[in-house]
Amino acid sequence: AVEVGNLHKSYGEHVVLDGLNMTVRTGEVVALLGPSGSGKSTLLRTINHLEDPDSGAVLINGRRLGYQDNGKPLSPAKIADARAEAGVGMVFQHFNLFSHLTALENVAGPLRWVHRMPAKEAEHRAGELLERVGLAHRAGALPRHLSGGQQQRVAIARALAPNPRVLLLDEPTSALDPELVHEVLEVIRGLAREDGLTMLIATHQLRFAHEVADRVVFISNGSVTEEGPAEELLTRPRHPATARFLRVMG
Ligand code: ATP
Ligand code: MG
Repeated sequence: AVEVGNLHKSYGEHVVLDGLNMTVRTGEVVALLGPSGSGKSTLLRTINHLEDPDSGAVLINGRRLGYQDNGKPLSPAKIADARAEAGVGMVFQHFNLFSHLTALENVAGPLRWVHRMPAKEAEHRAGELLERVGLAHRAGALPRHLSGGQQQRVAIARALAPNPRVLLLDEPTSALDPELVHEVLEVIRGLAREDGLTMLIATHQLRFAHEVADRVVFISNGSVTEEGPAEELLTRPRHPATARFLRVMG
């Protein structure tokens, strides 16, 4: 589960998250919607402790990521370990693959460096994951020789490699050409259906949100404006800001 309590985050004078509360229960798929600039990426990055919150708490599977038991911040070097222990992984809008490494190495590398898995075992696992996302035949390719959809599928395989129980996805299809969106959504749909992963997905794909999400959380002005079962919120929004957003997006 992911529990976010009274989270505050500003950049200088600019308040982005203003006492935000939300929970993603174990096994639940939640779509995170909100206007551009409403703080979706900031929320996901703060949950994954790529950003330090100003105040408030994030618990992932009961753990406070980024802090020691005594409340002191963890060193950056220890945060990757803490993410693995808490069981959280993240997929980014712009894939963020290592450009000089092959697809297989992009998945196997972090298993070796962060999780200290022996090379053979890491490669074997990476091969299985590339197979899972339909890319076994492109294992030796560098990112620049892959399509955007293929690159994002490698990034998903990489995020899955340490076996997270919680996966955060930040607009995983919005950098893709329209004809490549489908293949990535199919992979995510499979993870939601078959793996029981807990997922929080920022997306502008309303139809996709409708199909895969158990629940939708709509944020604006730094906090949750409205949340509810996907079907209900997407077809009968109660808050005017949600209704306006859905009208513009749909
Ligand atoms: P989009 O739908 O366009 O991706 P978003 O909901 O993900 O938007 P964020 O990227 O979280 O929005 O940004 C929220 C606000 O915080 C924006 O006004 C943005 O300009 C600002 N912001 C984000 N990151 C930083 C930063 N590192 N420094 C300063 N301001 C930032
Ligand atoms: Mg964003």
